Amino acid sequence: MAGRGKLTLITGPSGVGKGTLVNQLLERHSSIWLSVSATTRSPRQGEQDGINYFFQSRDRFEALVAEGGFLEWAEFAGNRYGTPRLPVEQRMAEGRPVLLEIELEGARQVRSSFPEGFQIFLAPPSFEELERRIRGRGTDPEEAIQRRLLRARVELKAQGEFDAVVINDDLESALQQVETLMELG
Ligand code: 5GP
Repeated sequence: MAGRGKLTLITGPSGVGKGTLVNQLLERHSSIWLSVSATTRSPRQGEQDGINYFFQSRDRFEALVAEGGFLEWAEFAGNRYGTPRLPVEQRMAEGRPVLLEIELEGARQVRSSFPEGFQIFLAPPSFEELERRIRGRGTDPEEAIQRRLLRARVELKAQGEFDAVVINDDLESALQQVETLMELG
């Protein structure tokens, strides 16, 4: 019988490249299970319900919060995001490595409920580079970009709370550092 799977969490400011890094990790290590979050944000072009997120109305999200259905949840740039509790617990019980990709407030909540989990902060090489990446995505309105930049400054200040900080300058090098931290062969 496999032991309890390890929980790894990756946080980092919007635009730092968490999504790309996580996708590469999943491609390289099929044992990893990535939690799919629920959100009240509207889907971006190409995003699919149940794959990128579970897209939910505010009312449904509230109902899930009230039922205790989330391991953690937080408000980010005007929308709510939460990690469904049950699938995480099931995968851990099966002994699979579980990965969460969430923002700072959620990471803090997970730190208190899963102190044995390992928390990685993915940082940009500089704030200017982060702004360039956020604007380069070209999918969000200016107001949303401003909110994300403001939030990024807050998140960057919190990197000292994490078990490890990885700078995403070169993707391959960042990936290798994360693989080492997750003890993946
Ligand atoms: P985006 O709208 O760009 O997909 O995500 C915005 C932020 O929400 C990102 O920093 C992402 O990591 C975070 N996020 C995604 N899912 C969750 C979740 O389940 N809980 C929390 N707390 N943050 C999440």
